Amino acid sequence: MALDIWMFIGLIDAFEEEGADHILDRLEGVGIDTIVLGDLRFGSSPAYPPTPELYSGCETRPPELAPGDVPRFETLQRAVERAKDRNFGVYLHDWLQSAPGCINDPEKLRYGPARTRDVVRSFPGVDGFILDGPEWGYEIAPNRSNLFRCDCDCCRTRAAEWGYDFDVLWQAQAGLKDSLGNLGSLPPGRRERGLIDGLDALISNPGLFDWFRFKTDSIENYVGAFADTARSLEPARKVACGPRLPAFAPLTGYNFGRLAEIVDFQCPKLYFWQHGIDGLKGTVYRWAETLCAWNPGLTEPEALDRVRELFALWVPGAGCLADLDAPLPPEFFEQVALSEINKMRERLGDVSRIRPWMGLHHGGVRMDSGELEHLLQTVEQGGLTTLIYWHYSDMTESDWRVVQELVRS
Ligand SMILES: [Zn+2]
Repeated sequence: MALDIWMFIGLIDAFEEEGADHILDRLEGVGIDTIVLGDLRFGSSPAYPPTPELYSGCETRPPELAPGDVPRFETLQRAVERAKDRNFGVYLHDWLQSAPGCINDPEKLRYGPARTRDVVRSFPGVDGFILDGPEWGYEIAPNRSNLFRCDCDCCRTRAAEWGYDFDVLWQAQAGLKDSLGNLGSLPPGRRERGLIDGLDALISNPGLFDWFRFKTDSIENYVGAFADTARSLEPARKVACGPRLPAFAPLTGYNFGRLAEIVDFQCPKLYFWQHGIDGLKGTVYRWAETLCAWNPGLTEPEALDRVRELFALWVPGAGCLADLDAPLPPEFFEQVALSEINKMRERLGDVSRIRPWMGLHHGGVRMDSGELEHLLQTVEQGGLTTLIYWHYSDMTESDWRVVQELVRS
C-alpha cells in the first residue's frame, strides 16, 4: 500500500526562490498532493497583513506586514492559489496565532481565534489548520519542556473554575519531583510493569491524577477554541493538533481518545533523533542524565532502565548514554517504533485520523536516509496510511529517492 505523504513547507521563502510551479511539480512527481505551510513569516516579520477590527476584544496587537514585504505576501498568496488550482490540499501549521503566556491565559483564547479568522482573509483557500502542540512540558531536565509547570495566576484561576484545589495539585507535582530525586535502590532483577501498576500509583496519589487531569482539560479547552473558530468560518475546514508519542502524551496533557471528539485528526510526532529539540533519543538521554544527577550513585544503565520502566521506551543495544549517539538499530524500529504506532491506532482507532509528523532532526544529530527508510517501512507495517514530512527544504537527494520509492511502491 502506498503512503499518502503530505509535505511541510516550513520555509515559505522557497516559493520565491524556486517558484510555486517548480515546487508543486516536484511534489506531484513523487505522488504528493498536499502541502502544509508555516511559519507564515519572512524572517522575523509576518507574511500577511492584519485586519485590525478582528482584534477589538484583544489586548495583543497583531504584527504589521512590513511595506517592503507586500510583494512577497502577494507571491505567497499566488502560490496558495496556484496549489488550489492544481487540486493540492493546503493546510496551515503556524500562522503566528499564539499570544505570549500560558495556555490558560484568556488572552491566548481571544487572540488565537482572532488570528485564525484573520489569516483566511489572506488565504481563503486553506483546507485546515494543524496546531503545533499545544502541550505541557514532559521533561525533567531544566530545559524548554519543563514537566513541573505551571502555577501562574491564570492556571490557578482556571483550576478553581473547574473545581480543582490548585494547592493540592501543586503539592502533588512537587511530590512527584521529590520522588524522582529519591529513587532509592530496587531489589535486583527486572520487573515488568503494566496498567494496574499505574492505577496503583494513582490511587495512592489522587492529587497527582488531578494534576494531569487539569493539564488535559487545559489542552482541550485551548484546542477546542480553535476548532470552534475554524468551523464557524467554514464547517468543512479541518482542525488538527500535534501530540508527542503515545508514551509521552499523557504527561503533556494529551488523551488521544478525548481529543478525537474535538479535532478531525491528530499528528503525533515520530521524532527519534538524539539531542536537539525533542527527538526520542534526546528525551531519553535527558531524563536518564537528570535522574543520575538527582540520585547520586545511580548508574547510567540503571537510569536507562528506570526510563524504560516509566515509558516502555528503550534503544536496543544502548547500555550507556553515549550509545544513544549511534544510528538507531533495526530492532528499534521493529520493536519500539512499531509499538508506539500500534498504540496510536489503539487509542484513535480510525487510521485516517492519524497523520504523524515525521522528521530526521530538529537540531541535534540528524538521522540518515537508511533510518528514514526503516522508519517509513515501519509506518507502513504499522498500518498507517499517511504522514506529514518535516520538511521540504531539508531533504537531501537521497531522502527524495527513499520517499519516491515508498510513495510509489
Ligand atoms: Zn499557567
